[in-house]
Amino acid sequence: MKEKKILFVFAHPDDETFTSGVTICKYAAEPDVSIHLLSATRGEAGKPGDPPICTMAELPAVREAELRKAASILGISNVEFMGYRDKEVSHAPLDERVQKITEAIERIKPQIVITFAPHGISGHPDHQAISEATTRAVQALPAGSTTQKLYYVTHAAEQRFGVASPPHTDPIENITTIISAPAYVSQVAQALTAHRTQHLSVNRVFPGVLQGDTTYVRSVNHFILVGSPHLKAADGEKETDLFSGIAT
Ligand SMILES: [Zn+2]
Repeated sequence: MKEKKILFVFAHPDDETFTSGVTICKYAAEPDVSIHLLSATRGEAGKPGDPPICTMAELPAVREAELRKAASILGISNVEFMGYRDKEVSHAPLDERVQKITEAIERIKPQIVITFAPHGISGHPDHQAISEATTRAVQALPAGSTTQKLYYVTHAAEQRFGVASPPHTDPIENITTIISAPAYVSQVAQALTAHRTQHLSVNRVFPGVLQGDTTYVRSVNHFILVGSPHLKAADGEKETDLFSGIAT
C-alpha cells in the first residue's frame, strides 16, 4: 500500500526533471511511496523546437504529452494541471492560486510538498509565483493536516547545474537536505529526452544528453526544509532523506 506521498508543485512541464529528477526516481522506486505533480501551466509559451516539432497551437497538447511521458519514466503516478497560461501565473490572483493548491493538497494528502525556492532558480516569474502560492497554501493548512514538511528545491551556489550557472542559487550552508542518487541518472536522461520540444534548453544545460551522454545530468538535488533553521548544518550533517522525522 502506498502510504507515503510527495506532491511537487511546479510551473511548467520539464521543471520536475530539471530540478528534482533523481529525487523523484529514488522515491518512486520505494514500494510505499507515490509521487504526485501539480503543474501550473502546459508550457504553452515555450519554444516548439528548432526545427519546430509542432505548431504553437499544438504546443500545449504536445507539452502535456511530453510531461506525461517524462512523468512515467521518472515514476510520477499522478499529473494534474492548474490550467494557467505560461508566463501568466503571476497575473492570476494569489488567493485563487493558493486555493487551487490547497484543494490539491487536501485531495492528495501528501506528507511532503515540494516547490521552487522563492527566487525560482531561473528567476522565471511563474516559478516565483508558484513558490509564493504553495508556501501560503502549506502554511495555512489546519492543524492535523497530513502535510508535515514543505521543501524548496534550489541549487548550491558553488556547484554547476549541468553546465549552467543559474542566476539564483543558495549558499551551501543554507541547504538543509541533499538527495544524491546517481543510480537514476540514466532515467533522468530519458525523461529529459522525452521533453522533445525543449531540446534546445535540454542540450544547452546538459550537453550530450540527447546523444546518450549522461556526463552532465545531475545526480544530486538540493533542498531547503522551510521553517527549520536548526537544520542548517555543515556539509556532513545535511538531511539525506525527505521522510526523516515524518510519522505516517
Ligand atoms: Zn519552468
